[in-house]
Amino acid sequence: MPITLSKTDYILYRECPKNVWYKIHKPDIYFESELSEFEKSIIETGNDVELVARKLFPNGILIEGRDEKAQAATQDYLVKKQEVLFQPLFVKDNYLAAVDILKYDPATQGYSIYEVKSTNSIDDKVHYHDLTFQVNLLKKCGVKIDKAYLIHLNAEYVRHGELNLEELFKIVDVSHEVDNLINGIEVEAATALKYLSQEAEPKGSCCCIYKGRSSHCSTFKHSNLDVPEYGIHDIARIGNSKAKLKELVDGNIFHLDKIPEHIKLSEIQQGQVDAYVSDRVLVDKEKIADDLKTLVFPLYFLDYETFPSAIPRFDGYSPFNQIPFQYSVQVLESQKGEPKNYDFLYAGADDPSEPFAESLQKHIGETGSVIVWHKSFECGRNIEIAARVPSAKAFMDSVNARVYDLEDIFKKQYHVHKDFRGSSSIKKILPVLVPELSYKELAIHEGGAAAETWNKITNGSFNEKEKEEAIANLKTYCGLDTYAMFAIWRALHNLL
Ligand code: SF4
Repeated sequence: MPITLSKTDYILYRECPKNVWYKIHKPDIYFESELSEFEKSIIETGNDVELVARKLFPNGILIEGRDEKAQAATQDYLVKKQEVLFQPLFVKDNYLAAVDILKYDPATQGYSIYEVKSTNSIDDKVHYHDLTFQVNLLKKCGVKIDKAYLIHLNAEYVRHGELNLEELFKIVDVSHEVDNLINGIEVEAATALKYLSQEAEPKGSCCCIYKGRSSHCSTFKHSNLDVPEYGIHDIARIGNSKAKLKELVDGNIFHLDKIPEHIKLSEIQQGQVDAYVSDRVLVDKEKIADDLKTLVFPLYFLDYETFPSAIPRFDGYSPFNQIPFQYSVQVLESQKGEPKNYDFLYAGADDPSEPFAESLQKHIGETGSVIVWHKSFECGRNIEIAARVPSAKAFMDSVNARVYDLEDIFKKQYHVHKDFRGSSSIKKILPVLVPELSYKELAIHEGGAAAETWNKITNGSFNEKEKEEAIANLKTYCGLDTYAMFAIWRALHNLL
């Protein structure tokens, strides 16, 4: 029984046929792991950007739904020659697509088709195919297409006052690229339809067997039964060492303790494997002590939470610039003391940059080391805040000049534990070094969820009670991030 191939599934098929087969035939496996907050926010961002892009086309009619009613409504409006349609639905020959924007030109009696992308540039491996699938289907449906356009955000745009939609978006004529692809896509879509319509599960392990763990989708373990939960795919950056990974996989070697000596791993990779195989914790006390000795009291353990808004909300922002809405800092005056926590969370409707910088200046003094985890993030935000709030520039520069990145101890492999699994993320280090502290019980336990919570606080999604709860949850989460840094710093000291 042939399935109906949607545009979305066709694009997914181009990334990985087997994965889409699971989505269609074994949704329980495909949807086994919930979407991460990051994945959810990509979907929501896409929806938000499309809503704003529609304003470029006044008087458009929205077709809602993906059912026969939506199909019939689309046909009605085509007959009436409605000038602009949003989400018209087309189904033919087992293909289905809803078009972002379709615009009728009475002069040519044809249509221009627009696909909106919530990105700052065109991804030519995906976006052209996406649009060509639609053009191909619309032609099958007897719709005359004059031009095909991609609409994406303009990274150069900086907001000043009201949003300038003409500058915020770039509308790129890609008719030529679509023409070049259309014959190939007709063939590829037919192959996809046949592959995805087969009832029997496609056989064999999947091609991600030659990629590191971070590239694997949630169905990997179902197709690759020989691969252990922790093995060669978990070696740090093994995905970049393609030849080594291939040699191991082709030799049927999946366990860390079976890696032959002639396979030369990098120092970092070898450290991880040694820690696992010998079941020993590797600690270079001298190097850790040398690093920690450079720190100057008071110590400020600092962490920011930000929201990357695709549509710039405030003056001075470009698409996807990070809005710094929260920080937590633990201030430790002396080696033996306990830190004091200060925090800031802006729940107002305007730009938090100025109050953020003002508050930070109250809590971070002129001397002392500022300890962060993954310094490029906080330092990058400090540079942006300084650009938006010139009066805070000297202070922000001084913070950046005093930053020490605690993650470096683990990145440089001064401390290696098998349970870090080759990662230097604080979420992996904390449970090993300070098992009594945990993110697990928190309502918010990762940065993506924090950003989305703040978005809901400020866009009116919450009532007063929910808002209060959300603010408390955000403070607990960010406070744990900084306390975790302090606790890891102390645990390292206790090792020396
Ligand atoms: S693990 Fe990779 S190759 Fe396998 S189904 Fe998932 S995406 Fe496809």
